[in-house]
Amino acid sequence: MRADIERILIDEEIIEKRLDRMAEEIGRDFPQGNLLAIILLKGALVFAADLLRRVPRQLELECLNVSSYHGGLESSGTVKFLDRSFPEVRGRHVLLLDDILDTGRTLHAVAERLRAEGAQAVHTCVLLAKDRPRDQEVAADYTGFVIGDEFVVGYGLDYRGRYRNLPYVGVLTREAIEREPGA
Ligand code: 5GP
Ligand code: MG
Ligand code: MG
Repeated sequence: MRADIERILIDEEIIEKRLDRMAEEIGRDFPQGNLLAIILLKGALVFAADLLRRVPRQLELECLNVSSYHGGLESSGTVKFLDRSFPEVRGRHVLLLDDILDTGRTLHAVAERLRAEGAQAVHTCVLLAKDRPRDQEVAADYTGFVIGDEFVVGYGLDYRGRYRNLPYVGVLTREAIEREPGA
């Protein structure tokens, strides 16, 4: 796997230090109960597991399956809700977690849906935010790292389903990107 990585962008130690700070901040901002963390699968799974264990507050956990990418390098433009049911969010303070803010369509669409379902407040939290114009007016309330406008994998982020379990965020080699799927 490591051979497919051209460059490590953010290593484990730096991620861990940043998560400590983010969790502290979230703990300070949400002093009371009633917090519901919603993890967008599968990309935010690794990030959320590491972050939420550091948050010194009681919270409840839900997951949502949405898709905006279809295995490639570009966002597809439409956000699909893949679950049969939707979590009960009426009156809740939601902390919505995603891996990366790119065009902004995913967070925008999910936050809208949460508000439509009666959430009292929706706060957004991402590990990464790309430094690029957004298609939708959306900013994350908590951002781990701002990165350049390039395709990254690792720490939950995939390319064609792979590389999610890398402990760091990195950039793939051209060879790995161009390899036949399944090879
Ligand atoms: P947006 O809707 O903001 O364009 O995209 C958000 C989603 O696109 C993320 O949750 C993630 O699944 C995917 N995505 C965006 N940029 C990248 C990237 O650089 N690498 C990977 N692996 N996924 C990305
Ligand atoms: Mg995603
Ligand atoms: Mg993906």
